[in-house]
This record gives sequence, structure tokens and C-alpha cells, in this order.
Amino acid sequence: MKSKSMKQEKTLSATLVSNPFAFSSSSICADDECFDDIRDTDPGVIVKMSNAVHNMLEGIGEDPEREGLLKTPERVAWAMRFLTKGYRQDPEEMLKKAVFTESYDEMVLVKDIELFSMCEHHMLPFFGKAHVAYIPDGKIVGLSKLARVTEVYARRLQVQERLTQQVRDVIQKVLNPRGVAVVIEAKHMCMVMRGVEKQNSVTTTSAMSGEFLSSQSTRSEFLRLLNR
Ligand SMILES: [Zn+2]
Repeated sequence: MKSKSMKQEKTLSATLVSNPFAFSSSSICADDECFDDIRDTDPGVIVKMSNAVHNMLEGIGEDPEREGLLKTPERVAWAMRFLTKGYRQDPEEMLKKAVFTESYDEMVLVKDIELFSMCEHHMLPFFGKAHVAYIPDGKIVGLSKLARVTEVYARRLQVQERLTQQVRDVIQKVLNPRGVAVVIEAKHMCMVMRGVEKQNSVTTTSAMSGEFLSSQSTRSEFLRLLNR
């Protein structure tokens, strides 16, 4: 780290007054940047990530030493840990905790689950809504868990297609219902901000199993409920 900062002193025109790499354990989490569920992050990880962000700032032609950017590397590191906390959560275990035996055998649909994720190709946000349905076969799950499990997968680097399938698959695996259907509608900042597509373009993906695939009337009912 020493030699790296020496190099910077040569390339930066501004006088270095502080070493941006000198994160001490006391500077970790000094701001309100870390929430409880990421507070136990290894300080070494934050230092490593902060260094990367520092380099990125130089790469885009910024001066990481100017006042407004001094703590940015560390803030970004904490933000990224938060936005990817789904890597450290187990969706299967989460669902299993809230499974109940019930004879209800009609479709269960939770609509408009808010979703924030990041595309794995650009690490830019994509966000929108998920709609999750299943037809129980003797077992139901707490409704909030359908939203929670969607969030766990969303808080990882993703492609929308895989995210959709992962939500379907974990519900299918844990509940073994007669069918699962997941639809996700999202806006991708890597398309919108870079002008690749029109600003309002929304990407829709779907993943289904069981009766949602084999029964035309079940699928129709699902789509009718979605559009209501
Ligand atoms: Zn992208």
C-alpha cells in the first residue's frame, strides 16, 4: 500500500495532505453508512474495496483528495456491501422457517413486490416489481417471505432472467407446490442512462413451473389477476 501511495504522489498535481489508504479500524463505519446487518464486515474487506474505488475515481479523471470525495471510497464500499448482502443470506432457510400445513389449494399471488438489484455486466441498478404466485399442495408459506426471498436474490449481482428463475426454483424446492409463477418487470439503468434504449423501456421476464406450464386456464387466470 505504501508504494502505491508513493506513485500517487507523483501523478497527482495536488499536494497530498492525507493518505487515503490509511483506513484504521476506528475509521471503519464512522459514518452512518453501515447498517446493523453488515456491521460485522471484515475491515480488511472494506479497505480493499475502498482502494478499488479510489483507483476508479482517478480513472474517471477525478481528484480523490478533494474534500467532497475524501470519504467516498469508504462510503461506496459500505453501500456495495449493503446492496450485495444477499450473498450472505440463505433464501432456502428463510423460506423453511415459515412453512405451514394448510389445505388451501387455490392460487396465492403477491403482486408488486418492490425490487432493487444490480446488473452483473455493468454493476448499475435495475429496479421494478416482482409478482410471485404459487398453487399450494398441502403447504403454504408466510406471504412476507415471498417478498423477502425475492430481495435476497435481488441483493446480489444479477441478470433479470436468472433472478426470475431463482425465485421460482427456491419456492418450488421448499414448498413443492403444484406450480410457481414469477414475473419481473424492471428498468435497467445500464440501458436507460447510456441511451441504449428508450428511457421508459421496461424489461419483462417470467418463469413458471407445474400447472402454470401445463394448464392454459391456470396461466390465463394468473395473467388476468396480474393485469387487474
Ligand atoms: Zn447492465
